[in-house]
Amino acid sequence: MSDRAEWQPLRDELRRWADAGRKAQLWFRDDDAIEPTDALDRLLALSKDFDLPMTLAVIPAPTGQPLVERLLPEKRVTVTVHGWTHRNYAPDEAKKQELGLHRPQAVVLDELREGFDKLKGLYPGQFAPMLVPPWNRIDKALLPELAAFGYRAVSVYGLAKPRPIPLVNTHVDIMDWHGTRGGRPHAELVELLVGELRNRFEGNEEPIGILTHHLVHDTLAWSFIETLFDETAAHAAVDWRPVGDFMN
Ligand SMILES: [Zn+2]
Repeated sequence: MSDRAEWQPLRDELRRWADAGRKAQLWFRDDDAIEPTDALDRLLALSKDFDLPMTLAVIPAPTGQPLVERLLPEKRVTVTVHGWTHRNYAPDEAKKQELGLHRPQAVVLDELREGFDKLKGLYPGQFAPMLVPPWNRIDKALLPELAAFGYRAVSVYGLAKPRPIPLVNTHVDIMDWHGTRGGRPHAELVELLVGELRNRFEGNEEPIGILTHHLVHDTLAWSFIETLFDETAAHAAVDWRPVGDFMN
């Protein structure tokens, strides 16, 4: 085993938390599940091996019974709503977006209601009333409408801002979408995570969200998750929480 020298800054920061008698709150969000796959099995095995809670953002329209049966015994897994079809409606030159105003607002909202009802029905014991917008983008005009369908939170990327519905965001995206399209180097991700921890140490109480996409992980991405869990699962200063704990 390597000494994982690039992980030392995380160990140092967590020691500071432990010395102060504090616990950092982390949560784990993985996107784009539709059906059982080998990659999903691999992710779920990590959740099980390290006994850590995971949130899966499931794409409602194409999903069904096979995923339900696969997830039923996974008591650590929470299911949330990942758009409706995960289709892009933005023009070619714009950033990808399903939940924009490229279509009539009523059409988009109907889909978000349908996605909520479908997944709540499929996962009565594992569902959390959270919307995870595909590509972490949603037009602000839609936000005030979501509570009426039952949503109690939205999860996008970056530090949370005041919104008409609470945001429970992710902050560390392990993929290099614009470069290699594989996992980002561990040193870079450790630096990002340590930055988030320092921000929380100074008083920001929002939990830190780790964002993954099991279907496209390469070796580097898988090894990041595994090492992160290995470094933190039993750490006195780290509290991995199910996302439902952050929704009131
Ligand atoms: Zn997605």
